[in-house]
Amino acid sequence: MTINETLSTEAGWIARGGTPVTPRTGRLRPLGLREVRLRDGFWQRRQQTNRDNSLAHIEQWLEKAGWLGNFDAAVTGDLPAARRGREFADTEVYKLLEALAWEHGRTGDEETDRCLRSIAARVVAAQEPDGYLNTNYGRPGQAPRYSDLEWGHELYSFGYLIQAGIARARTAGEDELFAAAIRAADHVCDVFGPGGIEAFCGHAEIEIALVELYRLTGVRRYLDQARLFVDRHGHGTLADIEFGRSYFQDDIPVRDADVLRGHAVRAVYLAAGAVDVAVETGDAELLAAVTRQWRNTIARRTYITGGMGSRHQDEAFGDDFVLPPDRSYSETCAGVGSVLLAWRLLLAQGDLRYADLIERTLFNVIATSPADDGTRFFYTNTLHQRTVGAEPPADVQVPRAASNLRAPWFDVSCCPTNLARTFASLAAYVATSDDDGVQIHQYAAASIDTSLPDGRAIGLEIDTEYPADGRIAIRITRAPDAPWTLSLRVPDWAAGATLDGLAISRGLVQLRRRFTAGETLVLDLPVRPRLIAGDDRIDAVRGAAAVQRGPVVYCLESVDVPAGVPFDSLHLDPGTEPADRDGSVIVTCRSTPPARLDWPYRPLSEAPADGAPVEIALHPYHRWARRGPSTMRVWIPLTPPKVSPG
Ligand SMILES: [Zn+2]
Repeated sequence: MTINETLSTEAGWIARGGTPVTPRTGRLRPLGLREVRLRDGFWQRRQQTNRDNSLAHIEQWLEKAGWLGNFDAAVTGDLPAARRGREFADTEVYKLLEALAWEHGRTGDEETDRCLRSIAARVVAAQEPDGYLNTNYGRPGQAPRYSDLEWGHELYSFGYLIQAGIARARTAGEDELFAAAIRAADHVCDVFGPGGIEAFCGHAEIEIALVELYRLTGVRRYLDQARLFVDRHGHGTLADIEFGRSYFQDDIPVRDADVLRGHAVRAVYLAAGAVDVAVETGDAELLAAVTRQWRNTIARRTYITGGMGSRHQDEAFGDDFVLPPDRSYSETCAGVGSVLLAWRLLLAQGDLRYADLIERTLFNVIATSPADDGTRFFYTNTLHQRTVGAEPPADVQVPRAASNLRAPWFDVSCCPTNLARTFASLAAYVATSDDDGVQIHQYAAASIDTSLPDGRAIGLEIDTEYPADGRIAIRITRAPDAPWTLSLRVPDWAAGATLDGLAISRGLVQLRRRFTAGETLVLDLPVRPRLIAGDDRIDAVRGAAAVQRGPVVYCLESVDVPAGVPFDSLHLDPGTEPADRDGSVIVTCRSTPPARLDWPYRPLSEAPADGAPVEIALHPYHRWARRGPSTMRVWIPLTPPKVSPG
């Protein structure tokens, strides 16, 4: 197939609004951003805030911080003197372009299109004749190109440029931005292909971009290059650094590793790229390796929120079961990357565990980061805030982990732009299709209109207040006059779920029959609050419990604790059931003050007296710090057993 023939078969995506990931084989097929439309509900409100506020906020900051101006300065010859921002600042512009492309794809909004084209023109103007594009390297007075593969982020940067070009091609057709992405990809293959530099980038990202470009264009060279990059990891190619080579996954070959390790965002991005390579090359061994790593990572290295990364100094995964709540780094980008990885595995294998993790991560990491108005963000997502933070002013850029409250912009501002492209393309993760029907993975108020490969048209309308309420009404709006299969995910937490009043078990529910337009199915997921304990090997949360209601993790905030009751003195009474009340969850605690103030240890037998029981309202973790600064904890200590004096 020629590149033009492949692109014309891809042209069908434009009418469907595009979608980020389109494997050529696999268990499930993605739907386009116009085939699944979010309607008023939890996620549509956030997508609208992204559209109304976040995109403009990001563009303003990119101008103000000078990161967009870097491209202009490249054209006028004012680099490096005029260069602003960190070495990877270009990527925030590319992620904004990708977000704008998806936003335009799903809405067709002309102003979004104009905004995208004006930013893209500035970017494209800075590209050099051989396809190289980076405002931080290669000019007199700058470090030479590819002189610092460990930290330089040049290929990482190309990856986001290519993804922006792909998003544009899938939603509007080929244009200047797409052409720039092709030139960049060809340059990367020229320089790092056979006979070229035998290395890879310290931050994975080029891999997923090149595979997706192969999917879009049919040009095998891009896939081959991605496979080379994946396979070059794990052989000690990059320099040893203070964090060790595991930091950039250069310690163990991808197909030999058992668990994700090192820098969390790098790890999940590389794993996602390895899945893409495995799917497109039919490499069952590689796919099995990543599947094994994912399972072990979920079993041992993931927070209750779905957050990943428990080490601050290198933004990395901790060892197995090292998941201290007060050191939860859980970078927002690691949450985004985890969704990207799980989505690829879900499409390849159809296993609902991937969709379960996507749900957990969306509600507890992705939804937590942005402020209500979409102009402030958490970079890290702690599960235990010990001190009351101070909100940074709206015009101040802060170091990435310095703010313990949502900040408008960061020196390293990867998370806001990563959220922007995720919210703009969020509908892609709701449902899929296969030869015989439609699978609903995420429950949100939405309309689905699609056709199966044989042309059978299917329409669904989903009405729900989920996750506040577990009732999900699925109305058939279009159905062929023949049997087909509607598949529903019953989440791992949803024991006691019913469909049209009949008990169903957790996992996959497949309904194969003839449906009639107008009929409604009612799925009821019991979102009652429950106390959750951690595995004993997660020592940091032994003797504590968290509260989860449906997919949503709750937290205790100091603003909800009665005056005079010390926040740190509260113990949860495990004998009382948490109860729903006005959108919050009520638990009964006792205040047990420390016995001594001068030394934080005491004989076990000298237990302090329990205070009187006090009812306290918990709120969803994703809502924390929205009512002003507070201290907060997700894991609440249980009332300790009494030891009689001996
Ligand atoms: Zn980030």
